[in-house]
Amino acid sequence: MKLLSTNASNTKIRKSQEQSGLRIASLSLYPNDRICSGAKLALCMKPCLKDAGFGIFPNVKDGRQSKTDFYLQDQKGFLDQLIKEIRNFVALCIKNGESPAFRLNTISDIDWTKHGIPQMFPQAYFFDYTKVAARLGRTPPNYDLIFSYSQNPAYQKQVARALQTNAPLAVVFRGHVPIGSYFLGREIIDGDKSDILNQKQKGKIVGLKLKGHEAKKSKSLFIVEPSQACPAISSNTCSEQDLATAGRAFAIAAE
Ligand code: SF4
Repeated sequence: MKLLSTNASNTKIRKSQEQSGLRIASLSLYPNDRICSGAKLALCMKPCLKDAGFGIFPNVKDGRQSKTDFYLQDQKGFLDQLIKEIRNFVALCIKNGESPAFRLNTISDIDWTKHGIPQMFPQAYFFDYTKVAARLGRTPPNYDLIFSYSQNPAYQKQVARALQTNAPLAVVFRGHVPIGSYFLGREIIDGDKSDILNQKQKGKIVGLKLKGHEAKKSKSLFIVEPSQACPAISSNTCSEQDLATAGRAFAIAAE
């Protein structure tokens, strides 16, 4: 079983690849609470994108599940194979004059630094989203992380910890992304262009527009209404204090 996908079949990966000029390989596992340790607090397992796109097809889901089982049941064997595939992909990219990049948590949240993987390949770039604030600020220079937001009260200590770093925070907005407004004291930027660009938005809110027909009706705590953001101060509708506090109500409630 091959672990890495190298043909950019995932739409977001393809978009990021086109925009960045990097050649991206990705790893898609099927998530569970063991490989997504922040999922219980963030309440994200149900609305997770695991069953979106190609994930609706049983063979795709089974393939991802087999990889998860491999990781959990034979970690050494899994890591040996992953490292070999990464090494081969890096060599191929270098041969073709391309820059290699890896997204290893396409639908999981494993701390790959604990396995030494980004450290092993300093010539490659690694990027991921995470729901574990303790992972922020501890990655090597070739590994960027975006913290992923949820309004679940039990998760707000993680959010508060993430806000103490300058890692970008990804927030999903219903309807439209209120670009230029503020949420959690940070300016919101358009995050729908490229995941690679998003990784470089230090200290910003990476605003993502909610997609999908069913998702639009969802009441998930993942989804933020644009009205929860505070318009930029120049609009005269928002005080400086509001700019700093918009979106913080949940954090305070959880303290
Ligand atoms: S942490 Fe990410 S991949 Fe894991 S269940 Fe939550 S949304 Fe899905």
